[in-house]
Amino acid sequence: MDPALGPPEEMAEKRDELTPMMRQYHDLCARYDDALVLFQVGDFYETFCGGAEWTARLLEIALTSREDSTGEYPMSGIPIDNAESYIETLLEAGYRVAVADQVEEPGESPGVVERAVTRVITPGTLTEDELLASDDNNFVAAVARGDGGGARSGGEGAQDRENATTSANAADGEDVAETLALALLDVSTGDFLATSSNSSETIADEISRFDPAEAVVGPFASEDVLPDDCMVTPFDPDAFELARGTDLLSSYFGDPDALLAADAEIRACGALLAYAEYVRGGEHEGERGETERETADDDREGFAAVDDPQRTRLEYLTHLTRYDPREYLLLDAVALRSLELFEPRAVRGHEDATLAGVVDETASALGGRKLRDWLRRPLLDPDRIESRLDAVEELTGDVQTRESVHDLLRDVYDLERLIGRISRERANARDLRSLRDTLAVIPTLREHLDDCECERLERLFDQLDPLSDVRTLVDDAIVDDPPIEITEGGIIAKDYDGRLDDLRSSARDGKQWIDDLQERERERTGIDSLKVDYNSVHGYYLEVTNPNLESVPENYERRQTLKNAERFVTPELKDREDRIVSAEERADEREYDIFCAVRREIATEVERVQRLAEAVATLDALVSLSTVAAQYDYCRPEIDGCTGGMDGGGEGEPGLEIEIEGGRHPVVERTQESFVPNDVHLSRDQRLAVITGPNMSGKSTYMRQIAQIVLLAQVGSFVPANSARLTPVEQIFTRVGASDDIAGGRSTFMVEMDELATILREADDRSLVLLDEVGRGTSTADGLALARAITEHVHDVVGATTLFATHHHALTELADDLEAAFTLHFEVGQDDGDVVFRHEVAPGAATGSYGVEVATAAGVPGDVVDRARELAAETDGDELEAEGTLGDERAVDRRVPDGSTATATADGGDVPVDVAAELRSLDLAHLTPVEALTELDRLKRLLEE
Ligand code: ADP
Repeated sequence: MDPALGPPEEMAEKRDELTPMMRQYHDLCARYDDALVLFQVGDFYETFCGGAEWTARLLEIALTSREDSTGEYPMSGIPIDNAESYIETLLEAGYRVAVADQVEEPGESPGVVERAVTRVITPGTLTEDELLASDDNNFVAAVARGDGGGARSGGEGAQDRENATTSANAADGEDVAETLALALLDVSTGDFLATSSNSSETIADEISRFDPAEAVVGPFASEDVLPDDCMVTPFDPDAFELARGTDLLSSYFGDPDALLAADAEIRACGALLAYAEYVRGGEHEGERGETERETADDDREGFAAVDDPQRTRLEYLTHLTRYDPREYLLLDAVALRSLELFEPRAVRGHEDATLAGVVDETASALGGRKLRDWLRRPLLDPDRIESRLDAVEELTGDVQTRESVHDLLRDVYDLERLIGRISRERANARDLRSLRDTLAVIPTLREHLDDCECERLERLFDQLDPLSDVRTLVDDAIVDDPPIEITEGGIIAKDYDGRLDDLRSSARDGKQWIDDLQERERERTGIDSLKVDYNSVHGYYLEVTNPNLESVPENYERRQTLKNAERFVTPELKDREDRIVSAEERADEREYDIFCAVRREIATEVERVQRLAEAVATLDALVSLSTVAAQYDYCRPEIDGCTGGMDGGGEGEPGLEIEIEGGRHPVVERTQESFVPNDVHLSRDQRLAVITGPNMSGKSTYMRQIAQIVLLAQVGSFVPANSARLTPVEQIFTRVGASDDIAGGRSTFMVEMDELATILREADDRSLVLLDEVGRGTSTADGLALARAITEHVHDVVGATTLFATHHHALTELADDLEAAFTLHFEVGQDDGDVVFRHEVAPGAATGSYGVEVATAAGVPGDVVDRARELAAETDGDELEAEGTLGDERAVDRRVPDGSTATATADGGDVPVDVAAELRSLDLAHLTPVEALTELDRLKRLLEE
């Protein structure tokens, strides 16, 4: 356990001797032993002992100490006023935080002031706006393994799953216990998703898509599917029990068997829901009634108790969506990274230099999240893609509607998180007004969409429910500009509640009576200097200066003697005052009660608000895509295989077709002064492009722009090209650039081989594969051999559509031998001896590597360059020979696969044909990287014998 967590050792040893406050701290640390406890002492949250040393270091704050009768303890504290920013740092450092607040006023009861944990904040279950990115979801995940319950019938996509899973299992006799399920929940928005697969790789890929901040892992499920930066939370294994999950899910969503497709999914969803109920269950507003709720907390046993009495239902979780990964274009973690969907690979002086950044022109947080979800899960179904494209096309062509809708959407608050807060009773009166202001936009939005023609926009028009009843309720009940506090009155509008109005008017009348009192008493007593005033100690009083004391009437009771005057009250004044104070207090209480009732009433409409949020989010995402299309001159892609659309390459037919004219890289073109567009034509018969050209000529950019155009098209976006036509791609795999996984202890070469092994195992004829400089991490001969073997395998066995960039000229000859391969190259020119990159792709192989010229351009000293030229001239002949013969080797071997003659190798020696045959017969798809290396080593030694 982390030294900062759990009860501090110094205290644990002498718990019973501690002062009551330190004992309280100790006990809370013991109870929340997985979290860092922030302990309120007045205006600060304090930590002590190891926790203090740790937080002082992490938060770069002063480490002080506290001394009491039992000893001296290190202490560090953060001011409550800006605790959130410190908490954020703690979460980023991988901590859970338990906030222990004072839940009674000091002196309210004898002994030490009562404290209790009011919030457990974990990275995956945040709901605090200040701690969340507005335009991205924040997921917590649960992973569970099935135990023979198997695939079920029913549920969206369940049938599909059943066919795939059960028949596959039946075929190879595997136990359905191998089913691995993933549940994902965004506690702040209520998005709740589930899926499962027999392949842990599929689940790992799905996890990378959603990038959860935290995960709970069930018994027998492995943490290996989680990325390194995901916090793993230990949670009660009982929560993963099938019966428990079934009961809990039924109470929210009805029969889970009808909704989900495997027992493992029920386990994962059930546990995740229990966890969310547990974590959010502790939170409350720090308002009235808190002490009462907190006493329940005393029964809590351990951080992750499933039977926790304080678990609270999260009523705003109204839908659980089961999906099948095969409905979406698969992008694994490597592809997500190399295609720069959400994270830039290199800083280009442009923060938003990501695919998400360049297409995000959304006006609201809702739209931003929706667009990211679309990018994360591009579609496969041509009809669904077309439906989005129709809407984008219509909005692209209608500047006025697009711009007006965009402007209106700027006034939309984050409806999903608002209704979440309302439902969890965390919303204040301002939140209700924000909801009302958002609803006020809807009728105007509808007017703008009234004339829309495409089916998708018509549907959105229908879904834009103005929720006038909710709007009227807030309008009637809540004042226009309410305060943040909800316990101090001033929030409920006049005329909403007769009783409240009476209380207010009696308070007002009382005050008026007092205001008039001074005049009346002056007249009655004849004391012109008599004054009525108020102070917080004595309340209202009448003040008479010393010279006038004889005229004081009998009913005046002395309260205070000053130097020059005396202060009095009368029984009537006291009575009035009591009535005012009590009316005001009662009015505040009543306001709070009314506010809570209004909030509860709105909470019953959670589903309608969520549906509206979904429609607004979709509209915003569509408008964003059209804005980008119009602004950056994108075109509508044609998608093969849609109903009534064009044919060729459609569902069922093998292979892909990708035709792009004048394509551009959506991210690079934004940062480049001028971008050179390029074409590509890929089809089943021309599916492997070997692309050569010197470094920096534009090979990677070209390959990635093709993948990004495909991806955008399947999101339903227009694309940066003059024209584009494609068959939906089911998977994109990339092996781009060298990246060491130093932290994971793997070399560049191991990472490369690992990624390649995945591609060879998982890709098929519906995949688009990008291979950049494969085999670079080892010696030239090894690298060439591997690159060649891999390319052949991808071509012959996998059948994937492949873009293969290399600076090895030898590999261009592959294109002659492989039926569906062809060559492309990036030519560079020379201008006065300087290299000029034209970034233009052309058919055929590159003529030279220009390495020396590039080195010159990069500023390598002249004498080094000259020497390099000399050496290059010497080795040129050998190299050409080597490359040529490697090409021949394959040609010879293909003709006489088991011939007995020797073939020439790159180093000019002889290779026994059996070694070449062994190399070719290597089943790379089923070799681990280590096995591959061992095998290579063995073959190499055979050659040396
Ligand atoms: P390679 O993969 O051949 O080494 P890159 O694709 O990395 O080359 O391209 C190098 C640089 O050239 C890019 O960072 C970009 O600035 C520029 N570039 C690439 N393609 C184009 C293009 N089509 N138009 C304009 N500039 C380009």
